[in-house]
Amino acid sequence: MSFKIDEILGQETALNYIEKYISDIEKIPPLLIFHGPNSVGKLSLAERFAYQVLCENGTGCNICGSCKSFMNHSHPDFIQFPFSTKVAIGDDKNPEEFTIRWLQNKRLNYKPHLSKKRLILIPDASLINDEAESALLKSLEEPPSHTRFIFIIDDIKKLRQTITSRAVLIPFQSLSIKLVKSISEKNEIYSEDFFGGSIFPYEIPPEAIQMIRSKVESSISDSIELIKLEEWIYVYKNNHPEWEEDFDFTEFLEFFSICLINSYSKSELKNKDIILEKIFEFKKDLHKKIPGLDNFLISELFFNLMNLV
Ligand SMILES: [Zn+2]
Repeated sequence: MSFKIDEILGQETALNYIEKYISDIEKIPPLLIFHGPNSVGKLSLAERFAYQVLCENGTGCNICGSCKSFMNHSHPDFIQFPFSTKVAIGDDKNPEEFTIRWLQNKRLNYKPHLSKKRLILIPDASLINDEAESALLKSLEEPPSHTRFIFIIDDIKKLRQTITSRAVLIPFQSLSIKLVKSISEKNEIYSEDFFGGSIFPYEIPPEAIQMIRSKVESSISDSIELIKLEEWIYVYKNNHPEWEEDFDFTEFLEFFSICLINSYSKSELKNKDIILEKIFEFKKDLHKKIPGLDNFLISELFFNLMNLV
């Protein structure tokens, strides 16, 4: 089975750094931050990097005890925090798993079991809360010589300077549309041109993607159709047979606005630029997470669209 860093395509800059560190693991800095757009290979590269650094032969041999337990997701020296839970400081005396105090009291002080290093991967560093961050700073300043941290984040500005100043930042970039197509085809992953240089960046089932897309495309230039489209959004919020599992209304709206942007950019409407600006505003406000804001934003957006088409 192949699990090599050179499977990550279109990220030459990041690979240059990583190859250097693999050739001399003592040079790996205490904290690496992989930053750049979603779904372009940050996590895939981090995992492959860890696999090879931890390998007893330093090659990702697929045979040694380290490689085997890595592939079984049971490597004692590879600690990957969960994807979508806040990283908290944890209880003083009895810290829960995957909190900072748990890491510091129950893991960091001990030597690695199988490998020369222990790697700690936080796949979404924006989830580290303030209190946890302050507690973590100490470990980043003076990490045990056998421990290294990897943080992943889309926008580096989301992290405070106290963190970034202690790290080597490794930039990732959007992939070319051509590369997205070829990677998606090879791995049988659904893709659309407007995914914008990322490999399937949504948790949305492809059936739902196609349906949302065609609903939007057929409605954008007619105000009666736009009224129907707005009504449909509320129906879909409660009833979404194409997307039964993990339905997320914000993600739906995010994708919906991408479809609008894609369709209006291709249209010949004379107010196209103002329309696009209104959709960008909508998209930006979506993530403010104020209760009840969604409905207000949707009606404001449709009010604008109907007046502009
Ligand atoms: Zn190995």
